[in-house]
Parts: sequence; structure tokens; C-alpha cells
Amino acid sequence: MKEILQDLSFAQLQELMLSMGEQKFRAVQLYRGLLRGARISELSDISKSLKERLLDRFEDEPVKVREVFTSSDGTEKYLFELSDGNLIEGVLMSYKYGKTQCVSTQVGCRMNCAFCASGLNGLIRNLTSGEILSQILVINARHGGTIEKRAVTNVVLMGSGEPLDNYENTVQFLKNVTAEGGICISARNISLSTCGIVPKMYDLAEEGIPLNLTVSLHAADDAARARIMPVAKAYSIAEILKACENYFDKTGRRYIFEYSLIEGENTGKEQADKLISLLKGRPCHVNLIRLNAVKEKKLRGISEKEAYRFLGMLEKGGLSATLRRQIGADIGGACGQLRAGYLAQTQGQEKEKEANPQGQ
Ligand code: SAH
Repeated sequence: MKEILQDLSFAQLQELMLSMGEQKFRAVQLYRGLLRGARISELSDISKSLKERLLDRFEDEPVKVREVFTSSDGTEKYLFELSDGNLIEGVLMSYKYGKTQCVSTQVGCRMNCAFCASGLNGLIRNLTSGEILSQILVINARHGGTIEKRAVTNVVLMGSGEPLDNYENTVQFLKNVTAEGGICISARNISLSTCGIVPKMYDLAEEGIPLNLTVSLHAADDAARARIMPVAKAYSIAEILKACENYFDKTGRRYIFEYSLIEGENTGKEQADKLISLLKGRPCHVNLIRLNAVKEKKLRGISEKEAYRFLGMLEKGGLSATLRRQIGADIGGACGQLRAGYLAQTQGQEKEKEANPQGQ
């Protein structure tokens, strides 16, 4: 694989231009072109010879849209192909205030949570910062967005992968995506979701990027959590809560817990009571999600009615909580489902029946 030009900040692009014997101002044209989601080969305002020299060293199209699936609720699910042929996925959700894109940070994942499809084949590799950024540039352009008027207004790092297990590249991406003069998405419109890699949560608090920190909790005690999330054996809930408090102290941002409702695992009154005593009075919010059942896994979700009952218990106990609208369930909306379905299909198995390819 060649290098990824989108990894570079504007200052690094300027240095690159100087090192290639070009004038510094060329970096402006190059940067604006890349932000428009253009390939290097499509850039019209740089010379043919510079283009050729860039193409010798850098990937022309690091993230390519391979397929788009559109859900009945308008959610779009993307299957992207990387330069080395690896597949990742992304989701674009439309809301009244704008569009939220869910991006992937790794090919696969090594966290192996019991309910999640992303880790089915383990971690394949980390994405570079430019590969994370390109997912947004490509989709923004497809939806008619520009640098001045973005179509993608919000970003969540909740696609496949564990962002804090790819810390350096994720932070570089966050710096580049929030940089002034760039695509410039405000950190306040960005949420990073982690399974709770505690030391990296402390590091993130020091980066000066006031994004929304989201932690996948999914259980209210360590034993129950360890049954569904292997990472719980490394870090306790108490340690996670301390790291969240530190994040709040350093950034002033309230934190969010994701809690996927899994039949027979974490939806009883006892778990609700434990969750209330853990979180009551803290500057946090709980997002309940009904599990999107993954066909390779045994775990199942619960009914909407049961989910509302669990929500009611939390609210009665004084927690700020919401039940997230289940979006894109008919197109394999949860992490890793689309890629897993696709890999299974290419291995001769049945393609996910519900998927509704819109083609390319
Ligand atoms: N690794 C990060 C981010 C990716 S997962 C993390 O663990 O937070 C984003 C969220 O989707 C997490 O809360 C994850 O637990 C949840 N999730 C994964 N698979 C799911 C499924 N099948 N149904 C519902 N939620 C799921």
C-alpha cells in the first residue's frame, strides 16, 4: 500500500510541497481538493507532473464506496473498500438538525464483545487517520456537501473497531477533522465510543479536544460485564467511572453510557437498581439500545415494551436516560454486521436477506 495523503495536516502538506520543490501555496489547492473528496487524479488545478509524482507515492482513492444500502427509515449503510482490498463500513443517519456519520477506526476489532459482529474475525489492521477522515470526505461529497456547507454535520466513532485501541491515528484524525480551515467539524459534534480502555481515557482527556466521551457499559457489575465483554477482565467499572469523572473535570463535558439491552443478561430489575446506584448524581446520560441480533451470535434483544420498562426503572431511579431509536436494523445497522454478512457471502454463504442494495 502506498502512503495516504489525507493523513497529512495542512502544515504537513505545505512541508510536502516544499520538499517536492513546489511553492508552498500549492498546498492550499491540494488541501481544498482533498477536502472536497476528490481523488488526486481528479485535481484540476495542479500540474500534470506534480499529480504524477504524488500518485507515485500516495493512494489515489484510499476509501472507495463499494456498495450502499438504504434502510426503509432513510439510514444509509456504506460498505467501503480500502486500497489494500480490506472492507470497512459506515452509517449515515439523517436527523432534523443534520446528518450524523458513523465511522470505523479499525478493520475488524480485537475486543471480541459477545454481541458484536466487528470482532468475528479478530483485528485485521488499524486505519490510518486519513482513512478515517476519507470516510467523511467521500460521504460529504456524495451528499453535495462542501467545505463551507457540510452535508455531514456530526460524527460518531462507533463503527467497527475500538478507537482507543488505535489511539495515535484516532487522535490525529480528531485533530485533522476539527482543524480550522479544514472540514472543521466541531469537537462538540463528535462522539467517541470506547469499550473502556481506562489508561487511554485518561490520555484522551489531556488532548484538549472537547468531544463527547461515550463508554459501552452494557452491565452494572463487573461479573455480568465480563460475561459479555472480555475487556471487563482488564478494567473494572469503578476504574471506568473514575476515568469518566476525570474526563468531566478536564473537559467539562458530561459523559454517556451505552447500554445494549440483551435478553437474559442485563435487563432485570436487579441490574437496573445496580445501574442507578452506580450512576445516580453523576453528570452522565444513559443511552439504551435494543440489541441488533447478530446471526453468528447467540444473544438476543428484548421487545420494545420491555425496553421501555427498563427505561422507566432508570428514570424513576433518577437517571437521565433515553431509549435509542433502533435505526437501520433491516440493513445490518449494528457494528460489523454488513462486513460480516459480506464476507460470509463471498465465502459462499447466504447473503443477509434483509439487505436492500441500492447499487452503485
Ligand atoms: N469499540 C467501541 C465502538 C464501536 S461499537 C465501543 O465498544 O464502544 C459502538 C456501539 O455499538 C457500542 O456501544 C457497541 O457495544 C454497540 N453494539 C455493537 N454491536 C451491537 C449490536 N449487535 N446491537 C446493539 N449494539 C451493538
